[in-house]
Amino acid sequence: MGTGDERIRRYHWALIFLTAAAVVCVSFRLAYEVRRNRELTEKLKATEAETEMILKSCASAEARIGELETAIENVKGLPKQAEAARQRFFDEAEKLEEMVQNGETDLKIAYLTFDDGPYEITEQYLDVLEKYGILATFFQRGRDWGTFGQTYIRVARSGHTIGNHTFSHQIRGGIYRSVQAFMDDVIKNRTFIYEKLGITTDVLRFPGGSGTAGSLKQDIIEELRKEGYAYVNWNSATMDGMYDLSAEEYRDNVLDKTGGRKFLVVLMHDYNRNTLKALPEIIEGLESQGYVFLPLFYESLAVNR
Ligand SMILES: [Zn+2]
Repeated sequence: MGTGDERIRRYHWALIFLTAAAVVCVSFRLAYEVRRNRELTEKLKATEAETEMILKSCASAEARIGELETAIENVKGLPKQAEAARQRFFDEAEKLEEMVQNGETDLKIAYLTFDDGPYEITEQYLDVLEKYGILATFFQRGRDWGTFGQTYIRVARSGHTIGNHTFSHQIRGGIYRSVQAFMDDVIKNRTFIYEKLGITTDVLRFPGGSGTAGSLKQDIIEELRKEGYAYVNWNSATMDGMYDLSAEEYRDNVLDKTGGRKFLVVLMHDYNRNTLKALPEIIEGLESQGYVFLPLFYESLAVNR
């Protein structure tokens, strides 16, 4: 006997032991869960903070992109604004030309033109023109962009008119072979200038003058019209393209031979150092004869359309 009590006691202890074991297990489990929970909460908080930071930087990046896009749009709009300003300027120039033509003013107009460039000393010409606040016309041909790119750009940015003078300027055995050969060279230069500077030329000077085209002249002029080109020759020149003369002689070739003409188109070449030397006196001399200076433009009275 007594074994029944004994067994009950054993069960009792076993129960207590098992309960204790269960409690320990649950407590450990709970402790683990609590710790894990805390860790997860912290991780979540960290992730939230990180997400917030990323969102913030995204927002600021987006704002920056917006700003850049606006800036790009503004820059894109600049050529248009410049073009519009240029057109307003030419509208006024046209009025002035008409006043001169009709004798409503004593002023006369001189168009300084520089052919064949750009050259190494072209920027020195720009310095002189800038000093006097004068806009001129540069009839340019296709030259090496690597060497003359910056000069092309400065001529364009200074507001001078850029005219087409054919790409190759190859007079003998070249551009005057045929109408097609001439036009190909013109279009090649137009494309070059447009691609490099974003400027569409619409005024052209024949290399050697329109007379050099001989029997092709009329047909070429017709083709030029179709391509939207007007052309201009000259009625005044330093003669620097033909003769190696002193600065004083170049100056006098212009100043002594204006004949008081109302419209003077002066031919010069921006490769000539003596012309460069003569330029300030040519400008001052023409001014004292009553001339004001304009760049050429398509609608100008001095241009053949
Ligand atoms: Zn030329």
